[in-house]
Amino acid sequence: MRELGYRAVDALVERRLGLPDAPPWMGALRTELEPLLMEPAPEEGRAPGAVLDRALQDVLPRAGRIDHPRFFAFVPSWPTWPAIVADLLATGFNIFQGTWLESAGPSQIELVVLDWFREWLGYPEGAGGILTSGGSAANLDALVTAREHAGNPERGVVYLSDQGHSSLERAARIAGIPSERIRHIPTDDGFRMRVDLLEAAMARDREDGATPVCVCATAGATNTGATDPLPELAALCRERGVWLHVDAAYGGFAVLTERGREAFRGIDEADSITLDPHKWLFQPYETGCLMVRDVARLEAAFRILPEYLQDTRLGAQHVNFADRGIQLTRSFRALRIWMSIQTFGVRGHRDEIDRTLDLAQRAGRRIAASPDIELLSPPMLGVVCFRYRPAGSAGSAGSAGSMSPDELESLNRSVQDRINQEGTAMMSSTRLRGEYSLRLCILNVQSGWADVEATLGRIEEIGRALSCP
Ligand SMILES: *Cc1c(COP(=O)(O)O)cnc(C)c1O
Repeated sequence: MRELGYRAVDALVERRLGLPDAPPWMGALRTELEPLLMEPAPEEGRAPGAVLDRALQDVLPRAGRIDHPRFFAFVPSWPTWPAIVADLLATGFNIFQGTWLESAGPSQIELVVLDWFREWLGYPEGAGGILTSGGSAANLDALVTAREHAGNPERGVVYLSDQGHSSLERAARIAGIPSERIRHIPTDDGFRMRVDLLEAAMARDREDGATPVCVCATAGATNTGATDPLPELAALCRERGVWLHVDAAYGGFAVLTERGREAFRGIDEADSITLDPHKWLFQPYETGCLMVRDVARLEAAFRILPEYLQDTRLGAQHVNFADRGIQLTRSFRALRIWMSIQTFGVRGHRDEIDRTLDLAQRAGRRIAASPDIELLSPPMLGVVCFRYRPAGSAGSAGSAGSMSPDELESLNRSVQDRINQEGTAMMSSTRLRGEYSLRLCILNVQSGWADVEATLGRIEEIGRALSCP
């Protein structure tokens, strides 16, 4: 047991120290992997060290290194070491975090961590929540709670902006709200939900005899980092008696910083909020969270007590987390967050969020000053959207040197492919109002200005080489 464990820890530490020198991404085709890995389950066991070696050699390295300092695609992550160790401990202690009876200390720690989040969000006493597998599960729990709160109407309607995350639509579908009753409300120039259009859509639905069940606002859109106008949305929802859910999975923990608090003003008026500690709170995967302003609403939506669990009812003081979501058997996720915050303090986490916010701002200034790259959206909450556009190509359509949107798209696709293939960085793309955009998402503890600058400089070089052959 010890030998295998020590070897695994050594391998993890070596990997982490070696990250800056490794490529940010390593993929493989199935045709390469099948001959290496496809086999019948072995009837006889093998030496544990040999099995570990094979996992370390053939399996684990062939993947994105999402914690690499130049991994800027999608949403990067950098779980803290204490949180990783907590994960091992929780598994080794075999904690069943479904009922208080079976996990008193761990349940208390989950309450402690949720209470920290409550304070950070500015939620009142009486707010509470649950740690989930991620933002998708939290959004699902929120929609079910909203639907139950609305009395399970036959024709419930859910509203989100055209920048809302796909998991909300999937959650609505699971919660019994089909796509024809999901409204994508257009956004303004800053990618924020148009409140006037939302109000009109709600009025139309009411006239048609449908029931608005939930408005899903976004605080930190994955695409651009944009935040919907929360105070206005809260006022409208309160007036109309409609549940306001805020999906802050991507950017929520920026609330620890002054800039984040400013961007999220009004978030404390939401009925529920999705957070994703496995994004900007530096936690291992499958650490998500739903916070609900009145936690009794969450339990009202989910509590069921089967006979065989009757011994687990210890009174309202003693939370059975199975009563707050879809899982009965749950792992002890809270230990990760608790050990991380205890080790580095709130300040340690806040400083890193602030530092990555600065990096994104600086990237924005660097791009604005470049003759050959243009911003497509100002940096917001760690996200920068831009494209390569050679100087002189911005002339009016048809003028010499101008490039059509299609040409720009194909040029930028090529730049992106080269950057990723050669291993300079890992970078993804998106579409903003239909236009192809490169996108950097900066929130890794290890990413420094040199990493961002090297990536932008290389984009200029490759772009130049490709556009002036
Ligand atoms: C990541 C994300 C989600 C989904 O969260 P998972 O943890 O991936 O399930 C939902 N909403 C937003 C805004 C996100 O960025």
